[in-house]
Order: sequence, then C-alpha cells, then structure tokens
Amino acid sequence: MASRRAAGRIVRGLGYTSAAAAVGGGVLYLSYRPRDIPGSEAAAVPPPTYGEGGIFRPPSFPNVKTRAEQIADLKRSSGTVSGAVEKAQSGITSLLKGDANDVQESNQGGKDEPYDLLVIGGGATGTGIALDAATRGLRVAMVDRDDFASGTSSKSTKLVHGGVRYLEKAVFELDYNQYKLVKEALRERRYFLDTAPHLSSWLPIMIPVDKWWKAPYFWAGTKAYDFLAGSENIESSYFLTKSKALDAFPMLKKSGLVGALVYYDGAHNDSRMNVSLAMTAALYGATIVNHVEITGLEKDADGRLI
Ligand SMILES: Cc1cc2nc3c(=O)[nH]c(=O)nc-3n(C[C@H](O)[C@H](O)[C@H](O)COP(=O)(O)OP(=O)(O)OC[C@H]3O[C@@H](n4cnc5c(N)ncnc54)[C@H](O)[C@@H]3O)c2cc1C
Repeated sequence: MASRRAAGRIVRGLGYTSAAAAVGGGVLYLSYRPRDIPGSEAAAVPPPTYGEGGIFRPPSFPNVKTRAEQIADLKRSSGTVSGAVEKAQSGITSLLKGDANDVQESNQGGKDEPYDLLVIGGGATGTGIALDAATRGLRVAMVDRDDFASGTSSKSTKLVHGGVRYLEKAVFELDYNQYKLVKEALRERRYFLDTAPHLSSWLPIMIPVDKWWKAPYFWAGTKAYDFLAGSENIESSYFLTKSKALDAFPMLKKSGLVGALVYYDGAHNDSRMNVSLAMTAALYGATIVNHVEITGLEKDADGRLI
C-alpha cells in the first residue's frame, strides 16, 4: 500500500516536472528562437526585368494634365452630380479587367462634362477619397488651399497600426465596434505594406516592463494583437530579459526594470504617402490642384453645386 502511494507520488512529481519543463522550454523557445529581422530581407521591389531580345522597357504611365490645364478644367466646370453611381460601376468593371487607361479616359471626360465629386482638402482623408472615387470611374476634382499633406497628415506619429490600445478598450469595455476597428486596421496595414513597400515598413515597438505583474498582462495583450492579425502578421511579439532590453536601449532607466515586450506594427512616411495618393488619383484622371482655397459653394435651385 505504502509503496503504491510512493509510486503515485513519483509519477505525479514526474508529470508536474515534465509539464513545467515543456512550458518553460516553450517560453524559452519563443523568446530566444532565431528570427528574421524585418528589413534585412531582399528589396521588396524586384529589379527591372528585360523583355524580348533582352531590351529593357520602362513602364509607361498615362499623361497627367499640367497644373494650368487642371485649373482651366476647374474653371470651366459647372458641376452637377449626374450618373455618378452608373459611372462608378463601369469604372470598377474596367479596373477589374485591369484597364486603368479606360478609367483615366472616362474620368477626364469631355471638356465641359461636370464633375461628380469635389473633394475639399488634400490630406490623407481627401486624397484617399479622391483616389477611391477616381478608380471607381467618377470624375473627381480635389483642391487644397495649401500644399498636399500640409495639415495634420504630415504631422502624425507615422504609424500604420491596428491599435493595441483600441484592442485593450475592446476587451475591457466589451466593445465590438472597437474590435472590428482593430481588425480592419490590421488588414489595411497589410495593404499599405504590400502596395507601397518603398514608403512603409515594419516597426518594432518596445514596452519597458517595470513590475512583474505587468509582464503577463502585456504579453497576453500583444499576443492577442498578433493573433488578431492572423496571416496579416509578420513577426510575433516576444519578451526581452532586463539585460537584453538594456542592450537594445542602453538609456532605459535600470532601476525597477524587469524586462520588456517587443511587438510589431507598421510605419510609413505620411506626407510622401499622401502625395503618392494624390498623384495616383491624378494618373486615374482626377483633377488635383493645390494652393486653391474653397471660400464658398454656390448651389442651383435644386440644391446642386454649380
Ligand atoms: C499628434 C497626432 C498623431 C497622429 N498619429 C497617427 C498615426 O500614427 N497613425 C495614423 O494613422 N493616424 C495618426 N493620426 C491621425 C491622422 O494624422 C489624421 O487622422 C489625418 O492626418 C487626418 O487627415 P485629414 O485629411 O482629415 O486632415 P488634414 O491632413 O489636416 O487635411 C486637411 C486639409 O484640408 C485643407 N483645407 C482646409 N480647408 C480648406 C479649404 N477651405 N479649401 C481648400 N483646402 C482646405 C488643409 O489645407 C489641409 O491640407 C495622428 C493625429 C495626430 C494629431
């Protein structure tokens, strides 16, 4: 009887030891496994390829109207919103067929054709709307009283982020809308990084941990963030010991430092991205003019802009 109890104790002890070793090994592996440091990989934009007979053919872009021509277009226009939905639908069909030139031609339209949409302000919001509308086949005009990205859009923190803090809010306030916002922003983050690798990159962000209880809290939060990003994620978050954190950031306050958590988010050059959006909208036929201020809007008897 006594020997059976002793054997049970040994088996239980072995079980606990193996479980602890497996968990410890897992944590050690996650913390110290070899990593591909983002940014050290080959250039995202492939070198130019050569066509038939080894002749290099540079890409050709549609012509964009000069500033004077765009201003003349604006002056000539007396806008009414007409057939905008139908045009948007046909523009999307052309885009799906991969024919950007068709969209550009239809957007530039006849000289006296009215605009479907006037966007006031060429910041991130305005240029995003202008590009979206132009690629749907709408005739778009966008003006900014200053230069593009001269407002808030050149003064942001330059993160392309899902928002770890919004995720915290979603969990603690059980706010489904915040959850959806984070999920959508994480998807958009991927689009930014894929479509504009020359203007955006991954950014490791380190959170210093000054109390032991904060380590599992931040760890769970950043892991949930990785999990939510799913296949859109690049590098998962990890814990750094105090000495590794100090190696990475020697200026960190040493007293009370327990370690640090590192997670990844996106970053971009906000003003160049903004100007790129404006230029792409122009390539799709939108009239894009800076240093033109809207001081008032005139409407006809039906309430339509003239
Ligand atoms: C401190 C700070 C940090 C931020 N960090 C981030 C971040 O890291 N990541 C992120 O995604 N977002 C961030 N944001 C939010 C982001 O920067 C803004 O949401 C975004 O720039 C807003 O763009 P917008 O086009 O609406 O405004 P703006 O960029 O301000 O553009 C408005 C434009 O309208 C023009 N305009 C105004 N009136 C007229 C008129 N009558 N006629 C013609 N033109 C006119 C102005 O000249 C201006 O260019 C941050 C914001 C702040 C304040």
